[in-house]
Amino acid sequence: MKVFNLTRADDAAQAIATASKATTAQQGADIRFIAGGTTLIDLMKLNVEQPATLIDINRLLPDKIEALPNGGLAIGAGVRNSDLAHHPLVRKNYHVLSEAILSGASVQLRNMATTAGNLLQRTRCMYFRATDMPCNKREPGSGCAALNGANRSLAILGTSDHCIATNPSDMNVAMAALEAVIHVRGSTGERAIPIADFHLLPGDTPHRETVLEPGDLITHVTLPPPAPGNRSRYLKLRDRASYEFALASAAVVITCTNRKITRVRIALGGVATKPWRSMEAETELTNQLATEAVFRRAAEAALRDAKPQSQNGFKIELAKRCLVHVLKLATQAA
Ligand SMILES: Cc1cc2nc3c(=O)[nH]c(=O)nc-3n(C[C@H](O)[C@H](O)[C@H](O)COP(=O)(O)OP(=O)(O)OC[C@H]3O[C@@H](n4cnc5c(N)ncnc54)[C@H](O)[C@@H]3O)c2cc1C
Ligand code: SF4
Repeated sequence: MKVFNLTRADDAAQAIATASKATTAQQGADIRFIAGGTTLIDLMKLNVEQPATLIDINRLLPDKIEALPNGGLAIGAGVRNSDLAHHPLVRKNYHVLSEAILSGASVQLRNMATTAGNLLQRTRCMYFRATDMPCNKREPGSGCAALNGANRSLAILGTSDHCIATNPSDMNVAMAALEAVIHVRGSTGERAIPIADFHLLPGDTPHRETVLEPGDLITHVTLPPPAPGNRSRYLKLRDRASYEFALASAAVVITCTNRKITRVRIALGGVATKPWRSMEAETELTNQLATEAVFRRAAEAALRDAKPQSQNGFKIELAKRCLVHVLKLATQAA
């Protein structure tokens, strides 16, 4: 295996040129960038990913967090999850992001994991990680062992007949509620992709997880200015209190005036095939008083299209309660 270690600023162009020769930027890519390595090395040890060439981008990626003139925030793709979660501007203006990141993995993993790597982390579906089992995501056309197998932790929203795997990231859920924009530099130039358009639904091509093309390097993520007077919270429900992925989670960014909800953004995690923005819940909440009955109506709307599998029907009520509770937390002192 070839490993490129890149250090100089102009090495970015070389990295992109090398990676753009890959057959795909999706499952089975023969050339891969490596950042913290906490997803990729795991999958290489399991033979789920077997790139012939690794391009180490650690000394190449921006690792700064900077306030933008419009009041928003720019986060370098190489910023470690710990640094992002503890940054004073994130704690002050984007509390939901800090809470989401700190609810994930362990201190050691968060010290290694990068912003870009977290956006691109892969599902924890056990069949994806077991090369002796059928899995359409790992090996297109081979089938989906989870449909009739162990699917307790898998998705109820955004699924298809070909894949029901969840996107496991906590950070991505907060980023979805904050309407983050992902900035990419590729062989044809630069582009900015709203997070809602970045991850793909599985459909009949579950091996395609994002809109990235070969050579696309995530350079940074921007967050819009915080909505005036907003409060934001993240709640994660899981089988044990730490070092565990979400069974259901919810991120809320909400503004209330005299208990009336004037603006709200909602995203769900642990229950969907991509970070799940719920416009349905937002519509139920907007211009309503912040009461438990209204929160419950929003939760019903968010889960209306849920499609449970044999073992994960419990997630529908769990996700509803998660959303109601995080809305209570976010509006308690408003
Ligand atoms: C035991 C364990 C428990 C965990 N628990 C949680 C949890 O509870 N919640 C949670 O959210 N996460 C959890 N994680 C996942 C963790 O957050 C991710 O592994 C981490 O965020 C990935 O970041 P990385 O920098 O290490 O990525 P890498 O492994 O380096 O890369 C991941 C992917 O991104 C690509 N990539 C990296 N940087 C770029 C870039 N700049 N441009 C284009 N492509 C790029 C790589 O090619 C690779 O395909 C856990 C992980 C482990 C191992
Ligand atoms: S749910 Fe998706 S990742 Fe899991 S076995 Fe089925 S196709 Fe593979």
